[in-house]
Amino acid sequence: MNQVEKVNLLDFDRQGLREFFAQLGEKPYRAEQVMKWIYHRLEDNFENMTDVGKALRAKLEATCYVGPPNTLFDKGAADGTHKWLLGMDGGNAVEAVYIPEPTRGTLCVSSQVGCGLNCQFCSTATQGFNRNLATSEIIGQMWVAAKHLGNVTHQNRRITNVVMMGMGEPLLNFDNVVKAMSLMRDDLGFGLASKRVTLSTAGLVPMIDKLSESIDVSLAVSLHAANDELRTELVPLNKRFPIAELMAACQRWIVRKPRTSITFEYTLMKGVNDQPEHARQLIKFMRKLPTCKVNLIPFNPFPGTRFERSEMEVIRAFQTQLLNANILTMLRRTRGDDIDAACGQLKGQVLDRTRRQAEFRKRLDEGTAHAA
Ligand code: SAH
Repeated sequence: MNQVEKVNLLDFDRQGLREFFAQLGEKPYRAEQVMKWIYHRLEDNFENMTDVGKALRAKLEATCYVGPPNTLFDKGAADGTHKWLLGMDGGNAVEAVYIPEPTRGTLCVSSQVGCGLNCQFCSTATQGFNRNLATSEIIGQMWVAAKHLGNVTHQNRRITNVVMMGMGEPLLNFDNVVKAMSLMRDDLGFGLASKRVTLSTAGLVPMIDKLSESIDVSLAVSLHAANDELRTELVPLNKRFPIAELMAACQRWIVRKPRTSITFEYTLMKGVNDQPEHARQLIKFMRKLPTCKVNLIPFNPFPGTRFERSEMEVIRAFQTQLLNANILTMLRRTRGDDIDAACGQLKGQVLDRTRRQAEFRKRLDEGTAHAA
């Protein structure tokens, strides 16, 4: 018997889906019809796609499926934040988080199982890295959340914004992330405007340029320090792409997308990067990117970290210093920290391929993680 493996339709963007339908000997517009069922009505059963002919439904049944990830666990926080632990092939799991606010609802999506960048203040780093997520596993997070929340595309949106700020470095999983974001943007997909889909990167300079040529989305850059010595300590990737190069890439982004802004994320850690001199360095950095803004994030602690959250007065003073220099500076409210769903607290289940998880656990057991 010629057993052919079935294809997961969530792996295709619109173009890919059209090509797949062409291979099946179907008209491309049929692909678009099915796409609406999948993303507008969140339907994963071909049987229920009533305006698709019987013969085509049978053909689809035989060759493909709509396969979102399995929810292993989900939990709501007191403030309305919701977290899903989603099982991926191979025993791994990643987390997605929904953050409702009065005027919008933001879904935070993961791009990799674990992360290889080893930023010192992020709990995902302590889990090591396993692999990139497939397009279906990225857009599938949104599909699961949308279904759970009763999202209706173009009508009653619960998810108005998506941020690629979950586990992983999205620019290291470029093709799958871009495909998934194109489904977030597509009118036949989730139909979100470019301002409402944001990719956050630790600063992979060449990929920032590539992104600007590939798709229209918003950019956030995790800065955390505006001097190279400190940034290299916090974000080791800075060694490869130091601040001057990162800034040049951001300037090129703005030239290519003149009406957009870049958000610089800055996690405030007590006594590490929260002093007036650090704010001065940040102001100097931002002067060269006048249309951009700063998002301050109070550090979210996790077991074994050596960092602490800055005091609220220090955070306010830091913000005031930037505001006084006419830099648009927001303070991100800490959300969902009672269910470990806040920035930098996402862990999932990473079958680590590096030695990082084991090393971190060993240091925790020895009680030396704090001093590391
Ligand atoms: N790798 C990408 C996507 C992750 S986004 C990036 O670095 O941008 C997650 C955001 O939360 C980043 O800005 C990250 O630096 C920040 N973050 C990580 N750990 C944190 C913590 N413990 N507390 C607060 N923010 C943290």
